[in-house]
Amino acid sequence: MDTSERRERHAVGPLERAATLLGVLLPILAVAAGAVLTWENLTTGRDIAIFAGMYVATSLGLTVGFHRMLTHRSFQARPAVRFVLLALGCMAGMADPVRWAAIHIEHHAHSDDDADPHSPVRGFFHAHMGWFLPGYPDDPDTYAPRLRDDRMVRFFQRTFWYWAALSFAVPFALGGWTGLLWGGWIRLFFTLHVTFAVNSICHTFGRAEFATGDRSRNNWPMGVLAFGEGWHNNHHAFPSSAMHGLYWWQVDLSGYVILGLERLRLVSHVRRVPPELRARRRLGAKAPP
Ligand SMILES: [Zn+2]
Ligand SMILES: [Zn+2]
Repeated sequence: MDTSERRERHAVGPLERAATLLGVLLPILAVAAGAVLTWENLTTGRDIAIFAGMYVATSLGLTVGFHRMLTHRSFQARPAVRFVLLALGCMAGMADPVRWAAIHIEHHAHSDDDADPHSPVRGFFHAHMGWFLPGYPDDPDTYAPRLRDDRMVRFFQRTFWYWAALSFAVPFALGGWTGLLWGGWIRLFFTLHVTFAVNSICHTFGRAEFATGDRSRNNWPMGVLAFGEGWHNNHHAFPSSAMHGLYWWQVDLSGYVILGLERLRLVSHVRRVPPELRARRRLGAKAPP
């Protein structure tokens, strides 16, 4: 089944299409409003602190929770930790965990071929956000069937919109209207576009250190901004590794959080890439005699 056939079969309703469009447009308007307020000296230290706190917490929900824990099973978490990570991932406001995982598994299964949901082979803008603007259908039956029987995941699938709403209520409670602007809408802008940039920039610009058969690249500014997810060629080479930064200089905040949780015995079975495998798979490595 090609992409157009799948679009037909999983048609997205007008309500969801409108919500998707608003979810993209409102954060852009919020950034413009934030710039004006800052120019007029109306942005406070409290607004910036609320923004930073919400950005770090919800982004880690996506990177540590949705991506590394749920999608790639790169570690196991105690139920309470799993609950918090999935709640924060929902609060990032991108998608419910089943949809998020299904689309991402589809990306790994078809990286940069015709069935990749968001590859720059169809243009940089398509990879960044063009791919979902018509309402890209997810296909969890094919790509994430194991999540159907996961009661906690299904709870978050049902309650996604409540968590997304909570991610606006918290900054409003903490900082009023400007708290809502910075910790809600401007934070959503950065979460969305940094995540989209992993799909667009990290499949276009940077270095390939491993032969992966796709266009994935390691891009260090994205490694910092996206909390480690910018070491994307590493990730495509070793998808289940909990660490995306594979060398000490490859900054990987999400990976450090996982190692910290492991030290506190809150997570276990943390999957690592053995150094000899890493050395063997590296591009330009000598074949064994
Ligand atoms: Zn990728
Ligand atoms: Zn992945």
